[in-house]
Amino acid sequence: MDKIAMKTPLVEMDGDEMTRIIWKMIKEDLIEPFVDLKTVYFDLGLKNRDATDDQVTLDAARANRQYGVAVKCATITPNKARQKEYNLKRLYKSPNATIRAYLDGTVFRGAIMVKGIVPYVKTWKKPIIIARHAYGDIYRNSEIKIGGPGKAELVFTEADTGIEHRQLIHDFTGSGIIQGIHNTDQSITNFARSCFNYALSTKQDLWFSTKDTISKTYDGNFKDIFQEMYDREYKEKFEDAGVTYFYTLIDDAVARVIRSEGGFVWALKNYDGDVMSDMISTAFGSLAMMTSTLVSPSGAFEYEAAHGTVQRHYYKYLKGEKESTNSVATIFAWAGALKKRGELDNLPELMRFGDTLEKATLQTIEDGKMTGDLAQITTLENVTTLNTEEFILEIRKTLESMI
Ligand code: NAP
Ligand code: MG
Repeated sequence: MDKIAMKTPLVEMDGDEMTRIIWKMIKEDLIEPFVDLKTVYFDLGLKNRDATDDQVTLDAARANRQYGVAVKCATITPNKARQKEYNLKRLYKSPNATIRAYLDGTVFRGAIMVKGIVPYVKTWKKPIIIARHAYGDIYRNSEIKIGGPGKAELVFTEADTGIEHRQLIHDFTGSGIIQGIHNTDQSITNFARSCFNYALSTKQDLWFSTKDTISKTYDGNFKDIFQEMYDREYKEKFEDAGVTYFYTLIDDAVARVIRSEGGFVWALKNYDGDVMSDMISTAFGSLAMMTSTLVSPSGAFEYEAAHGTVQRHYYKYLKGEKESTNSVATIFAWAGALKKRGELDNLPELMRFGDTLEKATLQTIEDGKMTGDLAQITTLENVTTLNTEEFILEIRKTLESMI
């Protein structure tokens, strides 16, 4: 059998611990036998980030912008314990944060649904993709604890003229607290663009919600930027694609999400997205079954699993014990990246392969062969629990039978 040819390489970002082990298996057992894989390789493993003073992460982000499509393995975000474990020169920033900041991208998180893993919400039939605006608001706030009586004001001084704009926040008669938050039109605009592009690219409706009835200026600004961009640039494209843009109040959105069937993208401000993404992923059943796609306003895509490096399993693996790590989200990251590369390069065979790889993975689970985390929550009967490698080899068999 001839292997499927590629035109443009994928940007490959390798990572750490158990997911690094899985990474190699997926490439060798599930992709390279079928695809003449071309990648531009960056080793984002912690050792190499330390050796390169984290330059490798920036280089990888730059390549992502240049080539368009990347696939990323989970990576360690170092803390004090990791600094000691790896004898690091310093505490590097999270690679995801570095890449996201460089591309000014938005992260879209969605569950992989499979028969036998039932969401807590009975009406949900399709994934709900959460898009979180990861800039500003309370995450870049400035706060003061007030000790006693006094006047708190909001002051903005124009850089050009020195003119001051003042507003009373509160006249304190006793102790209390105040907080200042901000966002920028540039960041909101980029967020909106990523959301419209992602919804179009995946042909799903886009929902956006804020609390603009209460916060008329701040949240109202988010609402207006989305609406104006939609009317100006996306209305026709959405209509052609048969998808809709829908704005509603956050309270109304929450109620509608619970009653919905799923199958749409839900864009949220920073804090709402932080909270809702944890609720939605838990309600869909398993962190190991969540994918994450970073989309930049310029149109670069980066695919990865939402979970981390699964450290506990890795330490067992190092001791030679058999562990059962779920590789589904990492497989879907590869499949998503191959499909997107195929779409951009007009390679239908590559797109078909990505699709088949996803189907074979789901079919294997539906046939009752799965890793321990899924075996514990599945409603299927007669399930076989496989270890990390056995599961990937079972998918290989299913894949061969489908190709
Ligand atoms: P984690 O790697 O997501 O794992 C937390 C726990 O969730 C695991 O111990 C395991 O539970 C379960 N789990 C997660 N993924 C699984 C999988 N694929 N298969 C089976 N079980 C899975 O989170 P963490 O242990 O808090 O973080 C480990 C490292 O990952 C940290 O250094 C952190 O910085 C990094 N991290 C990276 C990313 C990223 O690169 N995107 C994201 C998050 C965390 P049991 O132990 O009960 O089996
Ligand atoms: Mg959270």
